[in-house]
Amino acid sequence: MTTKQQTVRLSDGHFMPVLGFGTFAASEVPKSKATEFTKIAIDAGLRHIDSAALYQNEAEVGIAIRSKIADGTVKREDIFYTTKLWCTSHRPELVQPSLEQSLKKLQLDYVDLFLIHFPMALKPGDDYLPEDENGKLIPDSVDFCATWEAMEKCKDAGLTKSIGVSNFNRRQLEKILNKPGLKHRPVCNQVECHPYLNQRKLLDFCKSEDIVLVAYSALGSHRVKEWVDQNSPILLDDPVLGTMAKKYKRTPAQIALRYQLQRGVVVLAKSFSEKRIKENIQVFDFQLTSEDMKVLDGLNKNIRYIRGST
Ligand code: NAP
Repeated sequence: MTTKQQTVRLSDGHFMPVLGFGTFAASEVPKSKATEFTKIAIDAGLRHIDSAALYQNEAEVGIAIRSKIADGTVKREDIFYTTKLWCTSHRPELVQPSLEQSLKKLQLDYVDLFLIHFPMALKPGDDYLPEDENGKLIPDSVDFCATWEAMEKCKDAGLTKSIGVSNFNRRQLEKILNKPGLKHRPVCNQVECHPYLNQRKLLDFCKSEDIVLVAYSALGSHRVKEWVDQNSPILLDDPVLGTMAKKYKRTPAQIALRYQLQRGVVVLAKSFSEKRIKENIQVFDFQLTSEDMKVLDGLNKNIRYIRGST
């Protein structure tokens, strides 16, 4: 990983910027905010943009990307855009149409990265979270290895440069890696990762397999009530992060982001505030000591903010 170029080489030869912009926001936030703040993020220098079919903001994020291309700020090839396959589209015949739908909303010809959002499949249909009469999610019996083969076809068709997974544990990754006839390996596994859930074992496994670990909720998550226990501790209020921030004359958010970069993790940060977007980029001009990295490792409490993730 080179922080100078701020990219990491993926196993398929493409490059991923090590700091990404998260675009997920609570349903009550107007979708137009995704356009406004994605433009601000690109203007500020961010080149890696993370979204998903589930976020229902791809049309708005696409407007921002295309407007920054049109005004000459960036070229398409400067942007690394990620989208994700939602659980209701795991059936192999639904995979490419789902990506094509994302591309239509984005009005782009290709994405840079297409991820299986979660390893479990849900009943196909218009409901993102189909429930039975008892309020239980309705699963669909699709083997994610079959979904993966359809993902490989999307890469071969040129609709995405790279393919990967999200919210997979080691056993699930191994299932794909050991699949007979595997054509393309997953380049990354995007998972919840922060000082309270540092994913040490999964990170070591991913590194041993040349799979990049991409951290989401690196600042302690969006705390959207449908997904996050409102009683969980607030990461950025942690006193150790606070003390370290004072020591380095930084903010707790910058310490949490720098922590990931120094352990070889690509990190996403979501902010719909210009001030905080600019703050979150200032993480390449200081270095945490190895002692302080160990102190941050010691904050691990296996606290998972996002319910339903693995
Ligand atoms: P996050 O990056 O952990 O950020 C959490 C909150 O921190 C934001 O709501 C933001 O609020 C605030 N924040 C940002 N910068 C800050 C700063 N410098 N100081 C103080 N507060 C700051 O949030 P996340 O949305 O959970 O994760 C990031 C991205 O990862 C998402 O947007 C999405 O793209 C992706 N993600 C993926 C999955 C998956 O299953 N693959 C799951 C969750 C998230 P403001 O907007 O008010 O600044």
